[in-house]
Amino acid sequence: MNALAATNRNFKLAARLLGLDSKLEQSLLIPFREIKVECTIPKDDGSLASFVGFRVQHDNARCPMKGGIRYHPEVEPDEVNALAQLMTWKTAVANIPYGGAKGGIGCNPSDLSISELERLTRVFTQKIHDLIGVHTDVPAPDMGTGPQTMAWILDEYSKFHGYSPAVVTGKPIDLGGSLGRDAATGRGVLFATEALLKDHGQSIAGQKECDILIPAALGGVINKENARDIKAKFIIEAANHPTDPEADEILGKKGVVVLPDIYSNSGGVTVSYLEWVQNIQGFMWDEEKVKAELKTYMNRGFKDVKEMCKTHNCDLRMGAFSLGVNRVARATLLRGWEA
Ligand code: GLU
Repeated sequence: MNALAATNRNFKLAARLLGLDSKLEQSLLIPFREIKVECTIPKDDGSLASFVGFRVQHDNARCPMKGGIRYHPEVEPDEVNALAQLMTWKTAVANIPYGGAKGGIGCNPSDLSISELERLTRVFTQKIHDLIGVHTDVPAPDMGTGPQTMAWILDEYSKFHGYSPAVVTGKPIDLGGSLGRDAATGRGVLFATEALLKDHGQSIAGQKECDILIPAALGGVINKENARDIKAKFIIEAANHPTDPEADEILGKKGVVVLPDIYSNSGGVTVSYLEWVQNIQGFMWDEEKVKAELKTYMNRGFKDVKEMCKTHNCDLRMGAFSLGVNRVARATLLRGWEA
């Protein structure tokens, strides 16, 4: 099952669990805006190279859309759509005031020199600068991108709109990045793992490296071909959509507990939010404060997910999806549709 089909399926199951009206369900599913742009750059040897860039803005009911920009050969519309939608539910699960978006360029960054990557990032920014913004859509790093990419986006964006550091997060510290942002996704996974084990009356100490399996890069890596062979008791999804729905079913029957991506890896976007807050207020917090805030968000998120599991008698994935979908549905209804 491709990433979009799997994400849509999980969303629809959650919508049914919540008893959402079918029109509302439909409107939550369809992306707010899908952008596809051509990015042509001169290579270092003088030849031209063309790439396709995407930004999918999935939902803005809870305000600025938020999500990373990925540079990877497998970037294609369905994948970006799925990842954008996952960001909508993820930011809602974390309960930070954001919607969801995701972007990317179909390229292999390791085949490009630093100056080619800079030109590509600047051309991409020129094509989308009118559609992103501090209170509209705030990009961040993802696979194949990092703080330097964000610095180029910020610089290019500022040529059109004036200097606005909060237009991207995951920036270098020297440009207003937050201490603790680099480590945030991994640290969030650790806090999530601790919360799950505590809930099972256990702790990390004493676990043996495959009691806990942590897929942490690409999607779709746990599937019906390999799910039966997994011996771990717990799977913590640090990657986005690493487990496809067929594997989920097999793991559920085996009693393997899967802590879903939209909760487990929300530490990255949570500290992006803390970076954005610091930029807007002109503060620079120390790392201990960022770490303590992140821990509070991760613990509260776990408690909220478990509450939904209890209410709907469902597993952690459906607990997280129904929590996120419910928060976005409530915001959508409160804002209303009337023109
Ligand atoms: N790319 C990360 C994610 O998938 C972080 C997004 C962000 O910080 O906006 O959650």
